Amino acid sequence: MSENTLVGSEVRRNSLHQRNMLLSMRLNSGAGRKSLTASGRPEINPNRVRKQRTSFSQSSKIPAASGASGGRVHNSNNNRPGEFSAAPIAASPIKTNPPAAQTSPRKRSAALSTLGSEKSPLKFQELSLDDFEVGKKLGKGKFGKVYCVKHKRTGFICALKAMKKNEIVQYNVQKQFRREVEIQAALKHPNLTRLYGYFHDEKRVYLLMEYLVNGELYKHLRSHGPFNDITASYFVYQMADALDHMHSRRILHRDIKPENILLGFNNTLKLTDFGWSVTNVGSAKRKTLCGTMDYLSPELIKSREYDNKVDVWALGVLTFELLVGNPPFEENSKELTYKRIIRRDLRFPDHVSPKARHLISRLLEYEPSARLPLKDVKTHPWIEKNRPFW
Ligand code: ATP
Ligand code: MG
Repeated sequence: MSENTLVGSEVRRNSLHQRNMLLSMRLNSGAGRKSLTASGRPEINPNRVRKQRTSFSQSSKIPAASGASGGRVHNSNNNRPGEFSAAPIAASPIKTNPPAAQTSPRKRSAALSTLGSEKSPLKFQELSLDDFEVGKKLGKGKFGKVYCVKHKRTGFICALKAMKKNEIVQYNVQKQFRREVEIQAALKHPNLTRLYGYFHDEKRVYLLMEYLVNGELYKHLRSHGPFNDITASYFVYQMADALDHMHSRRILHRDIKPENILLGFNNTLKLTDFGWSVTNVGSAKRKTLCGTMDYLSPELIKSREYDNKVDVWALGVLTFELLVGNPPFEENSKELTYKRIIRRDLRFPDHVSPKARHLISRLLEYEPSARLPLKDVKTHPWIEKNRPFW
């Protein structure tokens, strides 16, 4: 597949098919394309042609192809091709819960205890596909499809992601896949998509997740965005809270973007796709270049060591995109986007309010240590001003 293959009138910019491809170009997204509403707020043209906004890593190896292909490659993936050695997941008997991150007995039991501690009835049961009524297809991921399913015995409704084992092996992402599952299973927060557990059969691994009825925030942004201050501030607050929770557990997300955020009832957001998430122990810094072009921070582009402040930068980009309709450094080429990011070439359309500008500017500080702490995001004057209207 070419980098700029178009699908219909809009190319989805997510990481489903080309996570590990070279960065692709954004098409037809230059200045002057936005029409203005009476309020002066630019409308998002749903027919606007966009590039795929690809998540990637430095060590990209997986060839992109149509359908459930592509994948996340990480420098530290040590599995040999053809080996499905995701031991806790694939080689074990059917389980409904994955081990906790790092699999220490203590953490493991903590992860197990999260299952069923809310209303999930799936705790410790041995499950198979026969236990579910499979409903509507919700979407397609790199290694499989996501369906809405109902657990026959209890009527519990959730999302089931079915992934082919041979594709996980083919793209040699067993280790990364296991880490993604472990991290997501260990996280429990109202704005993080819950992973209830998993089971597998001969051909596939199935992940059971919380079902988010309104799908991707990205689609919502294309059809209903950009958002006003009230809605955007509520979204930003929720994401700041979710990231604060992850960072307090020393987990970096590293791929924040509207494509990786799901929308539930009452404008509740849930961050998802923990494929690039990683545990950062102590004050250790990371070096792997990964994420999505428009959301990369200067230190990532400059291949410097980085920490959880890359997520804070990405939250700044997200805030801008929610209010404006496109990310702040968007250009027609990767090189130009990178230049603008490194120069911190931040330009606000007139309709962005002073308080929102202040928050975005404080999140998009060039120096990571100067970025606004997430706790302060939650009490920023822009948030406080809009909070009564949520
Ligand atoms: P990528 O990493 O490239 O985004 P993926 O393999 O992580 O792909 P997902 O993003 O998890 O795949 O799922 C594909 C699509 O299925 C999503 O874009 C979304 O539309 C839908 N989907 C996934 N999980 C859920 C869920 N819990 N509730 C509702 N819809 C979901
Ligand atoms: Mg995704």
